[in-house]
Amino acid sequence: MNPTQVYSETILIVEDDPQIRNFIAYALKGAGFKCLTAGTGQDALSKMTESPVDLMLLDLGLPDVDGMQVISRVREWSEVPIIVVSARDQDREKASALDSGADDYLTKPFSATELMARIRVAFRHLHQNANGQQRPPRYDVRGLTIELDKRQVHIDGQEIHVTPNEYRLLSLLAKNAGKVMTTDTIIREIWGPGYGDDTQALRALMASLRRKIEKKPGSPAFIKTEVGVGYRLMDI
Ligand code: CA
Repeated sequence: MNPTQVYSETILIVEDDPQIRNFIAYALKGAGFKCLTAGTGQDALSKMTESPVDLMLLDLGLPDVDGMQVISRVREWSEVPIIVVSARDQDREKASALDSGADDYLTKPFSATELMARIRVAFRHLHQNANGQQRPPRYDVRGLTIELDKRQVHIDGQEIHVTPNEYRLLSLLAKNAGKVMTTDTIIREIWGPGYGDDTQALRALMASLRRKIEKKPGSPAFIKTEVGVGYRLMDI
């Protein structure tokens, strides 16, 4: 991002480790954002009510209340984008944070570039929702084109035939491009709420879709697996 650009958005950094908190604040201020900080869950909740916050970066491991509780409390009255920050071995926690209403997550340690990419995606989805405008009916990244109004998928200009479930999966990811979608959310969206948590069908569907859209299905360039959490369709 252009360091001279000044954003009007305020980001609340909730992190008890002062070193990480300072690193994030430094990166965000450098990118032109306004920052508020909180070292505990209680502090985070009062900061949220005291002043307008446009996005929350939330460390899940807080000294007082569980990060998950902060998400539930905030979601009672606010749709503010929440990006969860979590340790590498906390896959289950990441998934339940997303299912509880967090928008995305970052795994420690992360770079300033990753941080900015997640924030950019969160604000883009927020603005699309806030304006009530239709999301761009088209996904077009590196030769993969998905026309959401026509239900058409092209690779390098050539139409690819996908099954109805492959299309449901692909369009769900395309509408949320750049964001991780949890396995539970995907299964619910494709097969309905009664389907349970059987991930076998999703893995099979994902494999057949990847064979159609990925040049190397074994090391996918479009749909990345977020181990233990879900899948993310890359937006760049
Ligand atoms: Ca912590």
